[in-house]
Amino acid sequence: QQSSSHQVAEKNQAPTITLIGAGLVGSLCAVLLAKRGYNVVIFERRADMREQSMSAGRSINLALSNRGIHTLKQADLMDQVEPMLTPMRGRMIHDLNGEQHLQPYGQRAEEVIYSVSRGDLNKLCMTAAEAYGNVTIHFNSRCDAIDFDKQQLTIYNELTEQNEQHSFEQVIGTDGSASSVRNAIHARHSQQNIVEPLGHGYKELSIPPDSEGNFQMEPEALHIWPRGGYMIIALPNKDASFTVTLFMPNEGELSFDSIDNKNRLQQFFKQQFSDLIPLLPNLETEYFNNPTGRLATVRCNPWHYQDLALLIGDAAHAIVPFHGQGMNCGFEDITELMAQIDQHNNCQTAQFNWQAVFSETDKLRQPNGNAIADMAIENYIEMRDSVNDPKFVLQKELAFE
Ligand code: FAD
Repeated sequence: QQSSSHQVAEKNQAPTITLIGAGLVGSLCAVLLAKRGYNVVIFERRADMREQSMSAGRSINLALSNRGIHTLKQADLMDQVEPMLTPMRGRMIHDLNGEQHLQPYGQRAEEVIYSVSRGDLNKLCMTAAEAYGNVTIHFNSRCDAIDFDKQQLTIYNELTEQNEQHSFEQVIGTDGSASSVRNAIHARHSQQNIVEPLGHGYKELSIPPDSEGNFQMEPEALHIWPRGGYMIIALPNKDASFTVTLFMPNEGELSFDSIDNKNRLQQFFKQQFSDLIPLLPNLETEYFNNPTGRLATVRCNPWHYQDLALLIGDAAHAIVPFHGQGMNCGFEDITELMAQIDQHNNCQTAQFNWQAVFSETDKLRQPNGNAIADMAIENYIEMRDSVNDPKFVLQKELAFE
């Protein structure tokens, strides 16, 4: 079915945009749509994170850069976000022998990136969206199917354990790397819909503050322990702790599979990350209890379906996290989407050309999504290997007893 690309809504009645997913990109997108007068309905699979404690071990903090800050400024949120930020002025490289070297990101004081709590930023965006009064978030509501002919969503309500049917006018997939909206679009029309596993995963650990509540390492840096086929990074948190992420192959001689007991774990850390051992009091508990995240790149084309559906954020372009740009790139998608809405739609005269909005956003953002996907994989090699000075990398094979 080819829907009309020029919809004329009743005067004074703004259209309703449906978002699937109230993650970082969905909730910030809702703020900017609401600011323009659109009604927004979001279906979010999870419970409301503002009423729950965050699950441990899932990407607690993120690097926010100028690209993402630009969109937060457009949403008038930077005043609230700023107190949540810890500046990181460069990469602090940790050698095998425990020596540290700072590689500044730039010469000028403003050339920094920021560490921010994923949960706090997400909560802030949700609350800011709801404050407009024209945004409704339905939690515990998982989108399972989309019927584009009937313009209907099948939503599974986790609380009632029932399927519900909801109609939609336009739907935007902000439902992350395993996007149901992407699958629905590509069931209709697909040139490419590939999930490329990296073969490496990640595990989150933590460095608590010292006994006086202070940081145990330089706070204003992104710390890296490059070690060839694997590496550790650490980002500061506002409470003087660090979130530490170990990246390593999923399978093979030295991998999450092979380091499967306390003895091997201790041996691995003693040989490769000995300076970290005193800083990780819960290493064993966290390593064996926290989930191992799998990393993959999503490449798909198209990112839209007629004038009915669009993908943005990880739903369109999940990337591996080694440039710290996944969220930033998703926020940039929102900026472009809003520019296209401003160009092709007019709420005052009730003229809406969603076909142009969606196809132009797709056309302009796809090359960027593909470029950052490639750069992110290259940067993994740069971060773990090409910092290839022998002093970073243990030359002999690590053998377990
Ligand atoms: P998500 O954050 O995945 O949100 C999707 C939302 O949709 C979730 O709330 C989910 O519950 C919901 N959902 C999913 N399926 C459905 C469904 N069927 N129905 C309803 N709701 C659904 N990016 C950076 O910019 N900087 C960094 O430093 C950085 N570090 C990272 C470190 C790690 C270890 C990882 C894994 C990623 C990192 N990223 C980073 C990437 C960043 O996390 C993602 O790009 C970002 O979360 C994408 O936001 P999103 O809203 O598109 O998707």
